[in-house]
Formats: sequence, structure tokens, C-alpha cells
Amino acid sequence: MVIDELKKIVGDKYLFSGVDIDPGYGRDQSPYAGFEFDLLVKPGTVAETAGVARVCNQWRVPLTIRGGGTGVTGGALPVHGGVVLSTERLNRIITIDRKNRYAVVEAGVVTKSFCDALEACGMYFPVVPGSSGSSFIGGNLAVNAGSPRSCKYGTIDHQVLNLELVLANGAIIETGANVYKNAAGFNITRLLVGSQGMLGIITKAVLKILPLPRGRRTFLAGFRHLESAINVCHTVAASGIRPSAVELITEGAIRLARPLALPGYPMFSPGLQAQVLIELEDDGIANIDWLTDWLAGILKSGDAEDIIMGTTEQEGEVLWSLRNRIGEAMTRHNLSYRDIDSCVPPARLFEFLQAVDEMGEKYGHSLVIFGHAMDGNIHTMLLFQKDGGAKQDADKLLACLYGTVVRLGGTITGEHGVGLLQRDWQPLQFPRHHLELLIRVKEAFDPRQILNPGKLMPEIVKSVIGD
Ligand SMILES: Cc1cc2nc3c(=O)[nH]c(=O)nc-3n(C[C@H](O)[C@H](O)[C@H](O)COP(=O)(O)OP(=O)(O)OC[C@H]3O[C@@H](n4cnc5c(N)ncnc54)[C@H](O)[C@@H]3O)c2cc1C
Repeated sequence: MVIDELKKIVGDKYLFSGVDIDPGYGRDQSPYAGFEFDLLVKPGTVAETAGVARVCNQWRVPLTIRGGGTGVTGGALPVHGGVVLSTERLNRIITIDRKNRYAVVEAGVVTKSFCDALEACGMYFPVVPGSSGSSFIGGNLAVNAGSPRSCKYGTIDHQVLNLELVLANGAIIETGANVYKNAAGFNITRLLVGSQGMLGIITKAVLKILPLPRGRRTFLAGFRHLESAINVCHTVAASGIRPSAVELITEGAIRLARPLALPGYPMFSPGLQAQVLIELEDDGIANIDWLTDWLAGILKSGDAEDIIMGTTEQEGEVLWSLRNRIGEAMTRHNLSYRDIDSCVPPARLFEFLQAVDEMGEKYGHSLVIFGHAMDGNIHTMLLFQKDGGAKQDADKLLACLYGTVVRLGGTITGEHGVGLLQRDWQPLQFPRHHLELLIRVKEAFDPRQILNPGKLMPEIVKSVIGD
């Protein structure tokens, strides 16, 4: 029996069934209510993780990997029941190696704990999602997470040297090597980053680390016209300054989150369509005072109405406070939301935002828009009353929105992953032969289709490889 075999591997204490399963493990931060499943296991080592995979593979039992459960697209939901494997006990920071400029961490390390441990040794990991207090490093890797600082450092795939991976059959491999250049074999590391628990179980990661910046300067500028705000982002990008963040916050988001901003948040003149938040890091290489002056000059000549600068950590925190509380503001207003994280080429950003605005009006939905302007990665939050409301008839708007993204040369998801929520929109972006290729890759890694089943397009999987 599967349950007996799994018990032998992880021990009684770390296997849960029936009423002993916390139903929270069947949910995440997506709008889905949650799914029931049969067994919850919490392996404590890579060997135990491999054992769990081997048993599930042998019995062909669905196996869904779970990190911190903060995903917003339903990626960690066990839609076919079976076994949920929580990585929470794989939580050791194994090495912080300053000379080699990397850290070795297990998949279940909470993002913030990793950042705190680095900071204590004067080091820094820049790609930290807003969910850092609960998300795990393994989960961040599995969705290819981003952060406001992706503007300088890219999504997390830019920071990975090597992964330890448990394959569906229980074999353990390293996907790369602990080096900065590697031209051997296919780039399996890159393939696994963003694979959303469908190709293997990430148990350990070797991540690049940097010296902690000496300080930061934060600018917040208000714009009467959205187009001027976006043009300033283009000018900053073209100037050669490499800000660590360039965030756009549009009118609706400002209105919603303003009451939650920290005391001291600037009072801007009324009637602004957008704010732009720009952060510079003092890395000791470029002259920060000179960069600051240059950036202030760009903002002034770019029609910014008000420009506020924060030079200390506390001042920076105040200027970030509205941006960082937009999600919380929505839940406080008894709203639930669907976070659409599409990404368009930066040059098409204004066109995209205009189109989104028109869609909201046409289909009668409330949309709140903010995001990572320099990357073209915008969060369009589709709002619903918590009691249901318009939730059911959003498909027309979604079809129009995703269709526009693809027409503009973008992608339906920039950092959250496809998961369950965005699964059925993939054919807008990928022609059938592309989807079939994804399914063939899946088949090569997981021929018995046990890992996170139900997240690829099920009907296409069936037609390509059968049941
Ligand atoms: C308030 C809030 C703020 C957020 N801010 C951001 C943000 O700034 N940027 C961003 O990108 N996202 C953000 N997110 C979304 C989410 O937090 C990220 O996607 C995060 O990286 C998910 O990590 P997790 O550990 O919670 O993964 P989970 O939700 O547990 O899982 C996500 C996916 O990864 C797979 N998975 C998890 N661990 C492994 C593993 N070890 N091996 C293989 N597959 C695995 C799961 O099967 C699932 O498909 C935010 C979410 C919230 C609620």
C-alpha cells in the first residue's frame, strides 16, 4: 500500500491522512476554494523526497509539490488529489560562500530568512517577491518569480547557478554546476526554473549572491498624464542609469492604497494619473550623488509635477509604503482579486494600458493597475466583491486582455506562472505545435504523468500521448 510505503520513508510523524490533513495544504493564494487530496508528506531530506517520488511513480499516484503556498495562479493545488509533498522541512541554509559568491540553500527555506541570513554577513540576494515572509526559495524558482528589483537583476532565473533535482522516478541529479559559465549539455537548470512542479522536485539551489548595497535613494514622482509617466520610464531606461526598481502606480491603485501609506507619505497635488517610484542602489561603483542629480533632471524635464526623494532607509520605506500595500488595501475593502501579471514589450506599455482601461469600461469590471514599468510587467488586478459578484462573467474581458497582450508581442504571465488559473489561455500565446513540444518535454521528465497533473492543457496531453 502506498500509505505504508510512504510511512516507512518519512515516518509516522510526517505523514498525514484523513482528518489529520490541514485543508490549508489544498489551497493557495489564488481565487480557488481549494482541493481535497489523500496524503500529505513532509520529507526532511533529499533521500526521503526521492523515496516519495519513487513510490508515487511506481503506483502512478498524483504528486503535487508545495512550497509556501503563496502562489496566486493555483500552481500548487492538487487538482487530481493524491499526495501533496510539502518542502517545509527542507529548510537549511547550507553555505553562504562569499569567495565563490554563491549560497547553497534547500528548497523550503523561507525567502525572507534567506535574505536576513545574507544580510547578517553583509551579502544580498536581490530577487525577492512581495510574499517573502511566506514564499519558499523552491517555490520562487518553480514559478520563475520576479520582484521590483528584477528591473536591474532580472527574474530569479538570472540568479541560479545549479539545482539539485529529484526526478519523477526518484533519481537525484544536479542540473548544472557551481560555476559562472557552463556550456555543457542542454540548459536543464533554466528549463527547471519556471517548470511549476511539473518536471521534477527542486530540493536544493545554488544562488548567486552580491555584497549588500551601501544605501539606496528612492524617488517618488507624480504625473498628471499617464503617458508622461511612461515616457519618463523609457528615458530612464535609455539613459544608461541602472535603477534597481522603476514602479508605476496608476490612479485607481493610489486611491485604494493611500489610506494605508505610512505617515509622512507625500501629499501630491490633486488630479494625478500616475506615480512613478524609482530606486537607485549605492553599490560603491557609480557616484550615487551624480546619478541622483541626473535622475532628478530626467524627472523634471519629463513633466513630473512633484518629485520627492528619500535618502535614508526610513524615508525610502515611507515612499515605498503605498506601493507595498496595494494588495492589502484590496482585501481591506472586502474585495478579492485576480492578479493578471502579463508582460509586454516596454515600448508597447502605454498602448497596453490604454487598451486595458477601455476594456474595464466596455466589460464593466473594476481594474487596478500597477507594476514593474521598466520590464513592461504590469499587474492588472481584476476586482470582485468577496461574495461573488461579477466573478463568473470575466471571461470576455480576460480573452480581450490576454489577446491584446499577445498581439502586442507579450506573454500572458511575466512572473507568477501559468498554474491552473491561466492554463486555458495558453493557446492564445502558443500555437498547437508549441504546446505539443511542452507536452513532449513533460513526457521526457515524467513519463507516467505523476507530477502536478492537470496543469498542462489536459485535452492536448491526451491527444499527444493518450491517457
Ligand atoms: C502578497 C503577495 C505578494 C506577491 N508578490 C510577488 C512578487 O513580487 N513577485 C512574484 O513573482 N510573485 C509574487 N507573488 C506570488 C507568489 O508569492 C510567488 O509566485 C512565489 O514565488 C511562490 O512561492 P511559494 O513557495 O509560495 O510556491 P507555491 O505557491 O507553494 O508553489 C508555486 C508552484 O511551484 C511549485 N513548487 C513549489 N516548490 C517546488 C519545488 N521545490 N520543486 C518543484 N516545484 C515546486 C508548485 O507545485 C507550484 O506549481 C505574491 C503573492 C502574494 C500573496
